[in-house]
Amino acid sequence: MNVEEGIELARYTTLGTGGPARAFARPASEREVEELLPWADERSLAVAVVGLGSNLLVADEGVDALVLKLGGELATIEADEDVLRAGGGASNAVALHRARAAGLGGFEFACAIPGTIGGGVWMNGGAYGGDFAGVLERVLVATAGGTGWLTPAALGLTYRHSELRHGEVVLRAELRLRPRPPDEIKAEVRELNARRKAAQPTNRRTFGSVFKNPRHELSAGRMLEACGLKGHRIGGAQISPKHANFIENADGATTAEALALMAEARRRAHEQFGVTLEHEVEFLGPLELPDL
Ligand SMILES: Cc1cc2nc3c(=O)[nH]c(=O)nc-3n(C[C@H](O)[C@H](O)[C@H](O)COP(=O)(O)OP(=O)(O)OC[C@H]3O[C@@H](n4cnc5c(N)ncnc54)[C@H](O)[C@@H]3O)c2cc1C
Repeated sequence: MNVEEGIELARYTTLGTGGPARAFARPASEREVEELLPWADERSLAVAVVGLGSNLLVADEGVDALVLKLGGELATIEADEDVLRAGGGASNAVALHRARAAGLGGFEFACAIPGTIGGGVWMNGGAYGGDFAGVLERVLVATAGGTGWLTPAALGLTYRHSELRHGEVVLRAELRLRPRPPDEIKAEVRELNARRKAAQPTNRRTFGSVFKNPRHELSAGRMLEACGLKGHRIGGAQISPKHANFIENADGATTAEALALMAEARRRAHEQFGVTLEHEVEFLGPLELPDL
């Protein structure tokens, strides 16, 4: 299996920031992942996966790990009666397309989530009242110690969270869907996409929601808007003028600039509302927000 050095991760993130991976490989089968994990283990190298990088903030100085990008057999999708079997590297968009073609509903919520199946499991991605926890039947996970199927309960899926840790690779997932006419699916997806376009920046480089919604009457976006942060800019990174819980790469942003905006947003939300916002975006590499 070919392992490359110094691959810049900025091109694998939707924000378009981040430095190089110490080691990078593109496994195309379970066997290749099962070779790579012990390879990293022998070298005491951490392992992380990038999906579509749509929820990732990667350190500018890079990542001291073996970074995997799943492809080939690990990005295939097939429908079998009411089960959709998808590789961890398959995109939600293609999975939804296949589900619709097979007349299977229940995955429509994912039309708004520009990631992969593996990333969706990791984050328990969700939108419009649906989430991965609601459709997952079981998930095939590889670690340096072996490969096995896990139930959703074993994955510990809660709001935008699973118990998965780096070094655990989602190879495949099976989604239990339900029969639904393709035209109905198409109509619902069209409506959800229109709602999304009206409320969020859809043609900008972002990583989706910055913070999880707090236990508060205001969502993170409304709270940051009330703090006067819409359009606030540090270097090339900007809080979206359309939705305050999004950071845009407005002009050659760095990860450090995006992180500085996050720190400022957290500080202001804490000062004004007494709320400690938790980041939804995943950090890769040595990144930390300052204590409040
Ligand atoms: C415009 C926009 C809108 C968004 N809207 C939503 C939304 O409505 N709801 C929502 O939930 N999210 C949303 N997101 C965030 C993001 O799309 C989701 O979190 C998505 O599930 C991330 O998938 P990914 O493949 O891009 O994962 P990445 O961003 O590449 O990775 C995220 C995490 O998952 C891990 N990971 C990825 N693949 C695997 C794998 N195969 N095995 C093990 N670990 C893996 C990574 O190591 C990382 O820790 C949005 C993002 C954008 C840019």
